[in-house]
Amino acid sequence: MKLGIGARITALFGLGALVLSILMGGLSYFTTRHFLLAGRETAAQHQAFANAVLVRTSLLGGDTHYVTLLTSIDAGTGAHSVLYHQSTARRRAQVYVSSLSVNASSIPTKLREVVLAGTAATQTYRSAQGTSEIVVGVPVPSVQAAYFEVFDLSDLDHTLRVLGLTLFGAGVVTTILGISLGRFASVRSLRPLADVSRAAGAIAGGELDTRLDPDAADPDLEGLTISFNAMVDQLQERIEREARFNSDVSHELRSPLTTLAASLEVLERDRDTLPARSQRALQLLSDDLHRFQRMVGDLLEMSRADAGSVDVFLEEVNVSELVRRSVEAGFGHMDGHGHGAPPEVRIDPAVQSWRVGVDKRRFERVMVNLMENASHYGGGVTEIAVGPGEGEQVEVTVDDAGPGIDPQERTKVFERFYRGSASGRRGTGTGTGLGLALVAEHMHVMQGDVRVESSPAGGARFVLSLPVLSNGAEPEGEP
Ligand code: ADP
Repeated sequence: MKLGIGARITALFGLGALVLSILMGGLSYFTTRHFLLAGRETAAQHQAFANAVLVRTSLLGGDTHYVTLLTSIDAGTGAHSVLYHQSTARRRAQVYVSSLSVNASSIPTKLREVVLAGTAATQTYRSAQGTSEIVVGVPVPSVQAAYFEVFDLSDLDHTLRVLGLTLFGAGVVTTILGISLGRFASVRSLRPLADVSRAAGAIAGGELDTRLDPDAADPDLEGLTISFNAMVDQLQERIEREARFNSDVSHELRSPLTTLAASLEVLERDRDTLPARSQRALQLLSDDLHRFQRMVGDLLEMSRADAGSVDVFLEEVNVSELVRRSVEAGFGHMDGHGHGAPPEVRIDPAVQSWRVGVDKRRFERVMVNLMENASHYGGGVTEIAVGPGEGEQVEVTVDDAGPGIDPQERTKVFERFYRGSASGRRGTGTGTGLGLALVAEHMHVMQGDVRVESSPAGGARFVLSLPVLSNGAEPEGEP
């Protein structure tokens, strides 16, 4: 798995803090331990030597109550004494101890041998019970004895354990602080990049006039800000130029097409006088010219929608009135298919008074397009209904009983120039593949959406959804 920059900065800070606290903690622990132990050893040695002198004096004075002597030496010190005495009567040395908690085996063998051989020695060790002890051995040759004193270090152990735990706790806190600092630093340092990606997202979403603020930008990112803005300037200019070009081309094509159409009309008037082959050619010419005109009209509208999503004028209107009127008016404008009565509009009582923000002209174009498609590909509209949608939305559905649209094609039909598998069974040759793309474009401009499903009548169901502005009847104003 690849870590992101933010995670890497955080990890680096955390690791740094961890290493630092291990080093500092370890250093403090071992230095403290060293000095405490050295102090205790020196004190132990002083005490043991003093006691050894006492033992020598007593033994020289002929005292034979060894245990009493040792007990009196230990009284109140917390240390324990062990005395090896080589009396002349026996061959083996006698061992006397001051307390039951020590015995001859409490003295490490090595140390005992060294001291019995005549050299004073000190050793710190861990006893079989797990407590630390210091033992100091002092030979007392003048009375053929060796005096050992065992000091308990469990208080020092305890102090060191508390110190260790404290340092460990401090290390954990430091590491957590390091991680938090890293998190903060990464968020801070990535913030300017978040602005850049937000701006790029907005541009990708069509807001071409989005720019980064060069004054607010981080000085280190000035270069990026400048080139980013320059890039977007160029992009915007290019897109606008292209849209203008498209619109100009469509405009330029319109007048020759009108001339052609007018000339064709003249020819058609004399159609009967023409031979059959010419009549057929004339028919083909007229069909294609008609289609060409539609396409140019659609292209013009598309380029206007591309270039001019700025000049949208959204009005707040009552949705049921809007749909009813658009269907009625649109039916009249339908491309040669508006015969008979316009389809009925069924309105869910729940949405009767809901209001939406639309551009009425665009909405009518959308309805015309869907009704035209239904009659081209689906044998006519079976039902138009208005009802509540998901969330704060109102939905307008246009159903037909035709072949419907394959699930795989349901997003593709909204692409420009897409004429799906149904184009083979087209009733007329006037399809351009732009109609549904325009529908989607218009709906997006009005903050709405369009999708296609299958209709209960067996054909296609186009669903337009629009955000609801309010669900109460406004007293004044138009529907
Ligand atoms: P066209 O100008 O070809 O009608 P559209 O964008 O309006 O372009 O439609 C794209 C394609 O979607 C059509 O060619 C057709 O295959 C399919 N289509 C559109 N409406 C329907 C419908 N009501 N029933 C079945 N297919 C449809």
